[in-house]
Amino acid sequence: MKPVVSIILTSYNKPNTVGKSIESVLAQTFTHWELFIMDDASNEETTTKIKSYLHDERIHYYNSQIENKNRYKTTRYATLINTAIPKTKGEYVTYLTDDTVYVPKRLELMMQAFNHNSAIEAVYSGQKVIHVDKHLDVLTERTRMTKGTLQEAANIVDHCSVMHTRKIADQVFQTFGSFWDDDPKYWHNADAAFWSRVNTFTSFHPIDEILDISYKTPYSFQNLNANLPEHLPEGTIVKGQSSNVYVIEENRRREIDREWFTVLNYRNRDIVEIPDPILFKYSLGPKIDETVFSNPSLFPNGRLVKAKESTTIYYIENHQKRLIDGFKAFKKFKFQKKDIIPLTYEFLEGFELGPPINSSITEHTILPSQLLFKDFSSYYLSNQNQLHPIEKNSVKKLNLKEQQAIRLSKKEKKIFTEGDPFCWTYFQK
Ligand code: UDP
Ligand code: MG
Repeated sequence: MKPVVSIILTSYNKPNTVGKSIESVLAQTFTHWELFIMDDASNEETTTKIKSYLHDERIHYYNSQIENKNRYKTTRYATLINTAIPKTKGEYVTYLTDDTVYVPKRLELMMQAFNHNSAIEAVYSGQKVIHVDKHLDVLTERTRMTKGTLQEAANIVDHCSVMHTRKIADQVFQTFGSFWDDDPKYWHNADAAFWSRVNTFTSFHPIDEILDISYKTPYSFQNLNANLPEHLPEGTIVKGQSSNVYVIEENRRREIDREWFTVLNYRNRDIVEIPDPILFKYSLGPKIDETVFSNPSLFPNGRLVKAKESTTIYYIENHQKRLIDGFKAFKKFKFQKKDIIPLTYEFLEGFELGPPINSSITEHTILPSQLLFKDFSSYYLSNQNQLHPIEKNSVKKLNLKEQQAIRLSKKEKKIFTEGDPFCWTYFQK
């Protein structure tokens, strides 16, 4: 029997919810559907979960086998949808994500609307959004009700609340050259971008019932990416979905071996959780393990060090050692005693000497990098003697301590060039 409705489910590493999404399709009262599970090269836990459902012949499985290093290049779910649509056979196309469930009557009620009025090309319904914590316990709930017939559905209607005819998809393709726009700038709202395309041909007809329930976990792309600057500052400690921890250095990610994490005075509370597609944007740099103690060019920047038997403290920057010239300088830049890493005298000797760090800020000052500064109203991160503006929300996201920001007077601030701001460019839904 030819399927009437084609459902496209996009999946990436959500082993705890993807099964529920698939089951909600299996529980539909309208049964003439086909389901395309578009898996974006998920981990084994997720694919094992998915594979337990593939015996139903209405279900088709596709694995993108995307290499992690290419994950950030397009809005992945839009790319997967574009791959799926030509494979589908239904007269209607609809979408599902791996953290959303349909209510059992979703397809039936949507089909009723199409059958009732043949002029309708796209329908949408209400949605319940449930924010949950890491254990899937409910934090808050809200409903997105329908808002009448929509000539502009963008940013009003969610990904999982729409069904449209194949005819509309074909018209979009003919006019725009693709179905969904998978430009990476749409990571947050490629659905909205596609609705805009659809809206050039037709409006969205409402079905005034809640027909899908969407779960927002702390690991959802939007939650992890919120307020994260597009370029990660040097020295940021990051973690994607796996347990590996990295430090961003010279635009690469250096994995920090767990054992050496503590030795090098990194702290768990500084770890910033980021989406995998952003993490994999950075290529792998040299690992941070015992080898960094044998070669100054491998020793991570932004660390406080001293020789075991000495009281002279240095700040490592550009793989050079910068002398911190006395206690006043140490205090001025809010360095912390507990961060000092003791090294052997011989190893410390091997570092080239960089410019010293003094307590007074003058036109001769070369600001230490990777520190947070604050003037009367704004925050800045220092890097290579420039001050890069950064939003307060991004300061929080990066786990930088606001109360430890180094105060700069207007006069002091003026001495330094303002670098490119750390911007969060993605549109927030
Ligand atoms: N997704 C994907 N590849 C990735 C990351 C995400 O295909 O590398 C899919 C994911 O399976 C989901 C959709 O993109 O269907 C949206 O992701 P998520 O639920 O994490 O984001 P949010 O709900 O915050 O938009
Ligand atoms: Mg989601």
